[in-house]
Amino acid sequence: MRVDVVAVGTELLLGQIVDTNSAWIGEHLAAHGFDSLSQVKVGDNLKRVETAFRRTLADADAVIVCGGLGPTHDDLTRDAIAAVMGAELRLDASVAQRIREMFRSRGRHMPENNLRQAMVPVGATVIPQTRGTAPGLICPVSVDGANKVLYAVPGVPHEMKEMLERAVLPDLHARSGDSAVILNRIMRTWGESESGLNERLDGIIGELEVLGNPTLAFLASGWDGLKVRLTAKAPTAQAATALLDEWAGRVEAIVGQQVFGYDDDTMESVVLQLLRERGLTLGLAESVTGGLVSARLTGIAGASDVLRGSIVSYASDVKFDLLEVTEGPVVSEAAAAEMAIGVRHVLGSDVGLALTGVAGPTEQDGMPVGTLCIGLAFGDAVRTTTLRVPGQREQMRQFSVITALDFLRRTILTSES
Ligand code: ATP
Ligand code: MG
Repeated sequence: MRVDVVAVGTELLLGQIVDTNSAWIGEHLAAHGFDSLSQVKVGDNLKRVETAFRRTLADADAVIVCGGLGPTHDDLTRDAIAAVMGAELRLDASVAQRIREMFRSRGRHMPENNLRQAMVPVGATVIPQTRGTAPGLICPVSVDGANKVLYAVPGVPHEMKEMLERAVLPDLHARSGDSAVILNRIMRTWGESESGLNERLDGIIGELEVLGNPTLAFLASGWDGLKVRLTAKAPTAQAATALLDEWAGRVEAIVGQQVFGYDDDTMESVVLQLLRERGLTLGLAESVTGGLVSARLTGIAGASDVLRGSIVSYASDVKFDLLEVTEGPVVSEAAAAEMAIGVRHVLGSDVGLALTGVAGPTEQDGMPVGTLCIGLAFGDAVRTTTLRVPGQREQMRQFSVITALDFLRRTILTSES
């Protein structure tokens, strides 16, 4: 079933608002197994909106329209739909009642033009509003004898998303008569570029292109790493899961430890869990990241059973005095090692992780911007590494966080449990 998208709003054309709605809708249509081949943006002009609806409906089985459902004179979506349906607009008493109640419950006077939002084309079904004042619409349309459907949802992103998930996607599934189950699995990876990963997965990608199910997509997510998403379609959830298991296993056999987690996992949640399973506590010595690693870890409920604390040893003399680092250049593996040992001692943790580096804007101790030295005191050994992390200050610091946590993760995984 082909489902295309029309986003209504002059501000989208002027670049005053970025059309994130279409991107979100496109992603969710794909995840639900619907083909979506065209996305259109059109300004707030009745004739042009109507034309956009007609053209899109000529090619697609269903069209999702977002925006232009508001109460003001430039919200023309429902007028254009009525024209396309060849139906008149009538006031829907229950929608009008809901809008009145909503204003009353907020203790506000309702401007009369809000009742425009209660105007429904004859033959359309209302998707009741739960958040804003604009209800959505499900509008059957006959195009050259074919039964098609147009859905109208509000432009406000959270209202649009809620209505799509609650009403539009289920209705599309019901119409397509497709009882298949579609499941996704996201593999979170760190440590390789999109092109590098693409090259290594070349064989699998080729096989999947022939099979068509499951599908594989890369989602580059900056300092959250690179996501590899598998989408499987099958008659039952069990069969879809089996497909995902099989192909995720094959991807992992190639990518190995670069896969740090799945779906909602984050690097910090995975690292915390790993330390917890091994019964290890962690102490941090942060220089270049100034507490960001600790902030990320403590963003997760229950971090306290693993994380002892963090010493933000930003000034050199704090490293020397508090962590007993030998006086000398502080952006070095030697300093990182001593910071890790020092913090483990001071905080009484099983593991000490230290970060020192140059976030910029200028070099330090002859080391270029982007230099990151990590020290890890773990068991009887101290491991260190030096990397060149990309980006300007903020990006450099965020990359440092995930890089250091990944260094810790991999060290634990390769150690004896
Ligand atoms: P409302 O009933 O709240 O007026 P509406 O259906 O009339 O909703 P619009 O007036 O078109 O929607 O848009 C409302 C707001 O939603 C815009 O100001 C904008 O912030 C956001 N918005 C609209 N369309 C999009 C879009 N395609 N992508 C992202 N945001 C959008
Ligand atoms: Mg509006």
